[in-house]
Amino acid sequence: MDYQHIIDAVMDKKEELNSIALKMYEHPETAYNEVMAKGWLSEALLKYGFKVETGLYGMPTSIRAEWGSGHPVIGLLAEYDALPGLSQTQNTYKDPAVKDGPGQGCGHNLLGTATLAAAIGIKADLEKSGFPGTVVFYGCPAEEVLTGKPFMARGGAFRELDIALAWHGNSKNTVELGMGGGLNSAVFHFRGKTAHASAAWNGRSALDAVELMNIGANYLREHMTPNSRIHYVYKEAGVAPNIVPDRASVWYYVRSLKRRDIDELYGRLVDVAKGAALMTGTELEIEFMGGCYNTMSNKVLADLFAEVYPMVPKPEYTKEELETADALNRSVAAFETEKPEEPIHTGFIYEPEKYSISPGSSDVGDVQHIVPGMMIGTASQNILGVNHTWQTTCCAGNGIGLKGMLRGGIWMALGAARILRDNELVKKAWETFKKDLDGETYECPIPDDVPVPQPKL
Ligand SMILES: [Zn+2]
Repeated sequence: MDYQHIIDAVMDKKEELNSIALKMYEHPETAYNEVMAKGWLSEALLKYGFKVETGLYGMPTSIRAEWGSGHPVIGLLAEYDALPGLSQTQNTYKDPAVKDGPGQGCGHNLLGTATLAAAIGIKADLEKSGFPGTVVFYGCPAEEVLTGKPFMARGGAFRELDIALAWHGNSKNTVELGMGGGLNSAVFHFRGKTAHASAAWNGRSALDAVELMNIGANYLREHMTPNSRIHYVYKEAGVAPNIVPDRASVWYYVRSLKRRDIDELYGRLVDVAKGAALMTGTELEIEFMGGCYNTMSNKVLADLFAEVYPMVPKPEYTKEELETADALNRSVAAFETEKPEEPIHTGFIYEPEKYSISPGSSDVGDVQHIVPGMMIGTASQNILGVNHTWQTTCCAGNGIGLKGMLRGGIWMALGAARILRDNELVKKAWETFKKDLDGETYECPIPDDVPVPQPKL
């Protein structure tokens, strides 16, 4: 089967795709504020003939674009939010372009654009082959706070799909089979009574309540399942030592591998918070920020993507790109122990016998509990690159990231082309999906009364 037309359709648009990704690198927007990114991607989709809607599900920065008709309905999951504090220039030492500014430290400028590239490739294939099928591009806001896709799912998204495909920039070219943790996110606000900290005895410290809650939470750690995690940061902790704080808040993430484990652990944490309020004579208010399911890759789709990978054009890097990657590798502590053989990964890793368990989360997990899904990764960073670092922001703005992005988009489209030609694949993916669900059904972890955050303009 000749799939060159798919590769050509993407590479014809190379300049424009690169320019969209670089605009998002230059103008990073954090979760729920992706107004420009939504604009650039939706304009391009419209220009390439897709039927485009934006602002669905009560989310102004979401996109839904489609082309084609009938089944299979292949969904593509785009993300485009940046991370706070990870601004970075093209220097190979830590050098924020904007002090404390946001940056593409997870490469979502590449992710959003690779997904656009995939949509272009699949449309070209549907046009040329004449096969029935629909490609749906979902522009998903706010992955970095792990609530964008759950809010979209709450609004009815994704159920129309037969398959959901996603790509993410990686330090390796890889199809990873496994599972990542889901989570709940909530801010615990305590309200007490202020007083002179030294001269009066009638105060009730909200900060004491936060500290006692944290102690209780830390004592939970011995009694959680090994793949559970609890993390917290102080949001508000008083203004001066000589004033008893009447307001204090702490923001928690509770992670575990399965939704039922998250719900159970979160319930125990809420009890700890209630206990802290009781001990300190303060009031507790819980602001539930959201939650997501664990990720769950589909073996049928993993095998498929491993099979089509050899058709993806080989990466070729310039001397300058290799030198940049080498310098970035040397900037991380792992360099001494790992001693990488090449600055950017050029091989391919798929270990079908290995099922990896990672406590990290992605809200792609919600979609992967509604329809069978798979996320693949191409090298878009230096080989020792880690997401959520300034080194990754750097790569998201140069040829290393852009090349990985185009290869990722092509790879997604090549996998989709196989799905369009083999109805059995969808059937098999669903059989595996149902087995993996093990009786679980998707219920959005965010209650109906939690409002969708709106862009801060
Ligand atoms: Zn990411």
